[in-house]
Amino acid sequence: MRIRILTIFPELFESFLGTSLIGRARDEGLLEVEVFDLRKFTTDRHRSVDDEPYGGGGGMVMTAEPWLNALRQIEGGRRILMSPQGERLSEAKVRELAAVEDLVLLCGRYEGIDERVRELAVDEEVSLGDFVVSGGELPAMVLTEAVSRQVPGVVGLHDSVENDSFRHGLLDYPHYTRPRVVEGLEVPAVLLSGHHRQIETWRRRQALAATLRKRPDLLAEASLTAEDRQQLLELADELEVELPPRLGA
Ligand code: SAH
Repeated sequence: MRIRILTIFPELFESFLGTSLIGRARDEGLLEVEVFDLRKFTTDRHRSVDDEPYGGGGGMVMTAEPWLNALRQIEGGRRILMSPQGERLSEAKVRELAAVEDLVLLCGRYEGIDERVRELAVDEEVSLGDFVVSGGELPAMVLTEAVSRQVPGVVGLHDSVENDSFRHGLLDYPHYTRPRVVEGLEVPAVLLSGHHRQIETWRRRQALAATLRKRPDLLAEASLTAEDRQQLLELADELEVELPPRLGA
């Protein structure tokens, strides 16, 4: 997996790219991440990357030229503009992008980038969510981290990705570690039992319960077995919540 990032603040990526799973994945050659300083692609003496907006109004706009120069030199890759106007990042989108294997992420600043860059050189826009942050760098890090979890070997135990929230349309089950009692709260006994089948059943039920309580909207799309549906009926009763229409029917 190769990810190239274009930004005027390359230093923001330094500790991020050297730390934890991403740092190790890069050392092991599972992940190749390169950060390019947009200013290196300017041609004027002041290495400027922004100018006043046509039509007036506040703020500055990133000029097209450095971006177009950079993208000409950085060949290939799916060119993704980090933008609040893009498709919202989701588990499905992350997996789609992980399969592309060669991504170029454009991090805007100020009021954004001259619109012609999007028209001429961008394949798609991707958003972190319906809110605005001050630059594309954090969104690019989020995308990089999410995509890299899909690369085999990046997350040590494959199971921990398999059970992640959203992977199969459900939220993850709750996790517990030592000590056995925390301020009077005991670890659920089944987890100490050593019965793998019972533990599996309990975890599935807990994943269903968490989804029903926190994100019932996900249940409409989740792949559910007959056993799951039975569990959901019981859980809805127990938790005194309504089942989403498709399941209640
Ligand atoms: N005026 C622009 C936002 C500019 S914010 C607009 O409303 O569309 C500056 C930069 O931050 C953007 O160019 C983009 O790269 C990044 N950014 C801001 N919010 C984002 C979001 N929700 N998702 C992804 N990138 C975002």
